[in-house]
Amino acid sequence: MVMDSGSIRRKFLEFFEKKGHTIVPSAPLVLKNDPTLLFTNSGMVQFKDYFLGNATPKSTRIADTQKCLRVSGKHNDLEEVGIDTYHHTMFEMLGNWSFGDYFKKEAIAWAWELLTEEYKLPKDRLYVTVFEGDAKENLPFDQDAYNFWKEHIAEDRILRGNKKDNFWEMGEMGPCGPCSEIHVDLRSEEEVKKIPGKDVVNMSHPQVIEIWNNVFMEFNRKADGSLEKLPAQHVDTGMGFERLCMAIQKKTSNYDTDVFTPLLDFIGQAAGIKYKAEEKTDIAMRVIADHVRAVSFAIADGQLPSNTGAGYVIRRILRRAVRYGFTFLNFKEPFIYKLVPVLGNQLRDVFPELESQKDYVGKVIFEEEASFLRTLEKGLKRMEGLSSISGEQAFELYDTYGFPLDLTSLIARERGFTVDEEGFKVEMEKQKSRSKAAAAKETGDWVLIGEDVKSEFIGYDFLESEIKIIKYRKV
Ligand code: ATP
Ligand code: MG
Ligand code: MG
Ligand code: MG
Repeated sequence: MVMDSGSIRRKFLEFFEKKGHTIVPSAPLVLKNDPTLLFTNSGMVQFKDYFLGNATPKSTRIADTQKCLRVSGKHNDLEEVGIDTYHHTMFEMLGNWSFGDYFKKEAIAWAWELLTEEYKLPKDRLYVTVFEGDAKENLPFDQDAYNFWKEHIAEDRILRGNKKDNFWEMGEMGPCGPCSEIHVDLRSEEEVKKIPGKDVVNMSHPQVIEIWNNVFMEFNRKADGSLEKLPAQHVDTGMGFERLCMAIQKKTSNYDTDVFTPLLDFIGQAAGIKYKAEEKTDIAMRVIADHVRAVSFAIADGQLPSNTGAGYVIRRILRRAVRYGFTFLNFKEPFIYKLVPVLGNQLRDVFPELESQKDYVGKVIFEEEASFLRTLEKGLKRMEGLSSISGEQAFELYDTYGFPLDLTSLIARERGFTVDEEGFKVEMEKQKSRSKAAAAKETGDWVLIGEDVKSEFIGYDFLESEIKIIKYRKV
């Protein structure tokens, strides 16, 4: 019997409850009053004040499932979504935390126990990584984590990772520490024989994927860059729920799990197209199944689509889904809103906020879809009478009517004429450099806003994804 996603989630929470954790609800997806972050992008965001010592947790052990959105700032996965099969815009991050309570030994032992004994993932398909150290930055190899892992797993399955993947820091200052990731090899026996899993970990192989990150906050980085041991040490873990479901349900794509199949079935039926019939329509179906989750939950959490800030990000995500549907699935009328009740019903036990507002959320999405489809129609009219499309015209269609280049090219092909794609790229580059000039780089998970660190809104960054990201810079 395969474990369904509801049971998988429940088991995680029950497991950590038995280990003395208090189970708390997910924080909203949308952050108000945080100038450094638009959306919750990991489980620890709602606990950030505990780590900074600005607040005291009601329990030193907490676990939950957190709705996360990674479409802006340091974590922006939007470009991958729908193309690959394991990055989502909205996903659930299962997490357990120790605030000055247990540390590496317990976190590692419990992660292993949960994955191998409760979920029964095969031990010979798991790999872990530990921080290799960084001499230049005076950061030590995580010998403790290595030793604790050795009690559970063969040493050739413990790999060393660099600062980029295996060291977490809040920002330029503040709490930081090494992390240890767990990866699972979901390839076929034949594939595994060709290249061993340990050679594929960290290569972004679609079937050898990271499922769980365990962060051990043990240092504080001071303003002068030096490290000191934190007076109390913390554990912060995050496991991608949909990826976990894929591993447990023995699939090789998150979209083949019961988290997504009800949505894909519904989309397939409406389009009269089977999922897995063709790459292009598959991508479109995945984009819609993914994006409806992000948009619905953002609206349910109070973020309406709009022309600025977080609302604009949501509007662009919805439009991306509408375009894929319009272009590849022939959805010429509003459709995505019809998925809201399917999704609400699916997640009613864990996130009842959507089910209880499904009519409202559906209406908002319907209106957005209808109005964007009208714009698309106008753009199509704009193309009428043309016998070729210059770079400037393609860019105008993109910028004013929201036509991505692939849509313009597709329509042009249907009508038997060409698009100056190179010219379009030139215009796009011009646009990008105009906004890049104004944008500063975002570095940490958030920027500390203190008395001497203030931030200033400096505008939008225009990306190929058509998502404008608000940028701030420290002043
Ligand atoms: P990846 O390297 O795959 O992009 P990450 O290292 O950016 O993941 P973390 O910040 O370590 O991810 O987040 C903890 C866990 O959350 C990951 O191990 C993964 O299982 C899951 N996760 C991260 N990003 C996504 C996403 N866009 N969609 C679904 N799950 C995700
Ligand atoms: Mg990532
Ligand atoms: Mg990673
Ligand atoms: Mg990671």
